[in-house]
Amino acid sequence: MNSVTVRVPAKVNLQLAVGPLRGDGYHDLVNVFHAVSLFDEVTAVAETGMSVRVEGESADQVPEDDDNLAIRAAVALARHAGRSYGVSLAIRKAIPVAGGMAGGSADAAAALVACNELWGLGLPLEDLMEIAADIGSDVPFALLGGTAVGTGRGERLTSLEAAGPFHWVFALADGGLSTAKVYAECDRIRAEEGLPVAEPRAAGALLAALRDGDAKALGAELTNDLQSAALRLRPSLAATLEAGRGHGALGALVSGSGPTCAFLAASAAHAGELAGALRDAGVAREVLTAHGPVPGPAVV
Ligand code: ATP
Repeated sequence: MNSVTVRVPAKVNLQLAVGPLRGDGYHDLVNVFHAVSLFDEVTAVAETGMSVRVEGESADQVPEDDDNLAIRAAVALARHAGRSYGVSLAIRKAIPVAGGMAGGSADAAAALVACNELWGLGLPLEDLMEIAADIGSDVPFALLGGTAVGTGRGERLTSLEAAGPFHWVFALADGGLSTAKVYAECDRIRAEEGLPVAEPRAAGALLAALRDGDAKALGAELTNDLQSAALRLRPSLAATLEAGRGHGALGALVSGSGPTCAFLAASAAHAGELAGALRDAGVAREVLTAHGPVPGPAVV
């Protein structure tokens, strides 16, 4: 085999609870991840060296060198296998870049799956999960897909039962938001408020809504502790969220560290109507519909 293509989904966070700042600079999180049907595609071709090309949605904002998360994943996998494998990776992006939908992590997960196949390593998912956790906290979920709760830095995962399908609308913004800056802003807001920060806990009502496939209940339970920080850094997102709520979204929140806004709809038809209303309102660069949960990376 000298070419493998893997399709990998984006994620939205249904609950992102951020605990107090730890001594090591990280936060303990409870992160309910949900994979949705917006896909990047990563093609791995056998080569002597390591290289990456990126095309599609905001490709010019993605590094085409060793900083690319897909290349970092391929290098980590070769190191794990103890061989000097080479690969040329071609990434076709549809997941918004720096949009809070873990596109880079998705590409890293896709590269692990593609290179595992291309190089005939046959490593089990557990091994790939360990390598993934070293690349970034969102990469293990990107390998798993579906719906899962992450604890620790978000990398200790338990899959969740989710009836679905849930229908989503995503409002993409101009330019990205840096995840590190959004966390720093969250810490700043908390310092200003001077209130104690609770240890993060998964919301029982949210897990029940997922299990029951109850979109109305799920919409009411969506929360993101990074949202006020993302809004402070990008005040225009308040109007985007308000427009979605005004057009009947069951729930509206900033996805992860933003600036993408996610809206839960009652049905596929409602998602289509909501997307049209958001486009007409002119509150987003682009509006997309998707459903979740969807499985993790798949060879196509
Ligand atoms: P998260 O939701 O995990 O916080 P995000 O969706 O906000 O992440 P990404 O699209 O993953 O953000 O990209 C964050 C940064 O990582 C980008 O600004 C880009 O410079 C860098 N990056 C490295 N590799 C990739 C990649 N393959 N795709 C996208 N961005 C990448």
